[in-house]
Amino acid sequence: MKLAKRDQAYIWHPLTQHQTARPPIGIVKAKGASLWDENGTEYIDGIASWYTAMYGHSHPQIVEAVSQQMKELDFVMFSGFTHEPAVKLSEQLMEILPENQQKIFFNDNGSTAVEAGIKMALQFHHNAGEKRDTLIAFENGFHGDTFGAMSASGLASYNAPFEDFLLKVIRIPTPQSDNLDAVLKQLTTIIAKNNCAAFIFEPLVQGAAGMKFHTAEGLDALIKKCQEAEIICIADEIMTGFGKTGTNFASDQLQNKPDIMCLGKALTAGMFPLSITSCSQRVFDRFLSDQVTKGFFHAHTFSAHPLGCAAAIAGLKLLSSAEILEKRTYIETAHQQFANRIKSHVKVKEVRCKGVILAIDLQVEMERYGNLRDTLYQFFIDRGVALRPLGSTVYVLPPYVITEKELQKIYDTVEEALAIA
Ligand SMILES: *Cc1c(COP(=O)(O)O)cnc(C)c1O
Repeated sequence: MKLAKRDQAYIWHPLTQHQTARPPIGIVKAKGASLWDENGTEYIDGIASWYTAMYGHSHPQIVEAVSQQMKELDFVMFSGFTHEPAVKLSEQLMEILPENQQKIFFNDNGSTAVEAGIKMALQFHHNAGEKRDTLIAFENGFHGDTFGAMSASGLASYNAPFEDFLLKVIRIPTPQSDNLDAVLKQLTTIIAKNNCAAFIFEPLVQGAAGMKFHTAEGLDALIKKCQEAEIICIADEIMTGFGKTGTNFASDQLQNKPDIMCLGKALTAGMFPLSITSCSQRVFDRFLSDQVTKGFFHAHTFSAHPLGCAAAIAGLKLLSSAEILEKRTYIETAHQQFANRIKSHVKVKEVRCKGVILAIDLQVEMERYGNLRDTLYQFFIDRGVALRPLGSTVYVLPPYVITEKELQKIYDTVEEALAIA
């Protein structure tokens, strides 16, 4: 029996309404930017499997690093023990993270990295005897699906059933070229009227919101205002990290650096679930005390998994390699050219590019998981292109190693899709 059929007996998939969803596609092989299903059909992975596999699937250097690691040290608990992959990865990250980042806390996925970041910020104030109970976050942000992360997220389609159970969060609009004064004013009022602990944001690009951009100048001004009030600024770089916005981290494009950063997804080149919450010395020092309970009593069983660390170290080497840098520049240029080609199409409301991210807002109203969205999704799949439109936004965020031919096929298919939208 085919995978697609066997799957249906026992498996409950994420983000899926099982009553109406088509059976999933059984994938048996992945290499570079390609996926193959059990019938031999090939798909181009146009969003690098949720922007994780940025160096391509099954990259030989990553595979080799993980297999070597597996033979030496599979796993050891990370409380009371340490290991070479974690130490080496931390040393190497320090070379590329913003200078104020000084400590690395390991978790096992994006949501738990955010969860740890929020808890660090809350305890930072608690340890100083201050009660601060409010988080500030952007409208339409996405930070993950555990309760703290979900509280910070502002996408109602995910959160509605849980709204009565969330942390206290006040939302502000993202800063655009025409609203910064108003947003700053709103933030000033929020800070004056509440005990704000942290400001959490996806820097420069809100991924799940539909690859929405905001200005670095605006975000800088908001961070400054928060830091003046001792509000811990948490940059959720789980999507933006590792080169997607043109720089290693989106925070590299800011003057005011976040106090805490969350890394995940492409951190391990899509090979392993591992995440990091990094922080400044100042944040770390607030947890030092003769009192044991002032420490950060938070752990995930698989923290700093050696296999994930080994994949991440191999990934970092690729990130800064001449080959990948060249590919990144190629994709950026190709995106720009395609954007120019389609920007005046009647079905295109807006097209925008940043780094290797290309997003097209269609001139149609549709629900996030509505019928037209599903039709579009299927249209791409039927043509061997794996893209996941976010409502009426189609975006392309390909693995850096995608070939010219594959990228052109994605563009052509998107252009063809405009006719049915
Ligand atoms: C994917 C994502 C998360 C959640 O990561 P998981 O590994 O899915 O838990 C959090 N924040 C952002 C910005 C993300 O893109």
